[in-house]
Amino acid sequence: MKYILLLVAVCLSFVATAQDTELTEQPDSTVVERVDSAAVTKPMPVRPVRTLGQVSVIDTLATESDKLSIVLFNDNTWRYVMSEDYKADSEVFNDHWDTVATHAYKDVPLDSLPQATPILLVDSLDSYHYPYIGRITSRYGPRRGRAHQGLDIALKTGDPIYATFDGKVRFSKAAGNYGNLIVIRHNNGLETYYAHLSQRDVEVGDWVVAGQQIGLGGSTGRSTGPHLHFEVRYKGQSFDPERIIDFKSGDLRRAELLLKRRHFSIYAKYEQDFDAEVEVEKIEEAERKAAAAVQYHTVRSGDTLGALARKYGTTVTRLCQLNGIKSTSILRIGQRLRVR
Ligand SMILES: [Zn+2]
Repeated sequence: MKYILLLVAVCLSFVATAQDTELTEQPDSTVVERVDSAAVTKPMPVRPVRTLGQVSVIDTLATESDKLSIVLFNDNTWRYVMSEDYKADSEVFNDHWDTVATHAYKDVPLDSLPQATPILLVDSLDSYHYPYIGRITSRYGPRRGRAHQGLDIALKTGDPIYATFDGKVRFSKAAGNYGNLIVIRHNNGLETYYAHLSQRDVEVGDWVVAGQQIGLGGSTGRSTGPHLHFEVRYKGQSFDPERIIDFKSGDLRRAELLLKRRHFSIYAKYEQDFDAEVEVEKIEEAERKAAAAVQYHTVRSGDTLGALARKYGTTVTRLCQLNGIKSTSILRIGQRLRVR
């Protein structure tokens, strides 16, 4: 049953393009050759597939190719999918397949990766959906001297989180500071991490498709409040998720990515330091509060420092400090004084 549900999802995602697909294509073995350099460098936004809903599978048909199946839906649509048997045999889902460790490639050094790796993000058989759309509260990369392996998106606990691409769940459990963590390995070799979840809906070994709900957002593990900590990694090395996803529109920025070695964080081999993340959050929250508390007064005829101090519940000395003036200074009408 689960197998069928997954197929429903796979199928839904590319109904629109299915009719254009040639059966004779061999997307699996020829990925690199099919990525021409012009296509790699030219960004072309890709809309997310629709979120999976009520449509169900009527039947799954074999094709002449053992790599492809055809799935028929009850809304008279159909699409090609890569057969799961075929995917299960591929190296991507066998090499460093570790369902216990959060990071599977710790023994793969960064300098063993090629200078540039062409990554096919979507095509007629591989779909995309944003993980969550919301305000980014912390970006990827160094922040106040701390490395951030992913980015944080504010959410409400219980909001649905979606698989970003088709793939297979490599890791799904409570993982210390990550809280409830799901790691999905995708057909293209990328791994996406979804942390601090309040609920996990998929387990290790499940095949998932882009747009499938995999869990609910939350604040488990080391976290200051409900948010999604989202990472994208290739062979264990993290890079900026905004390189591929526009988190405002939810669009994928391009169909193919030329992933360069210099895109990776030099800290990518390490766990995200959530203690540092929480500390940075607290400092920035305090700064936001202090900034929000700042208040100004525009001087009018008759205003004196003494009267303003009484009006704003402060002292003349404090007003002088805040504005770098003396208690004997003459106030000008229209002058802007900081009073808090
Ligand atoms: Zn984070």
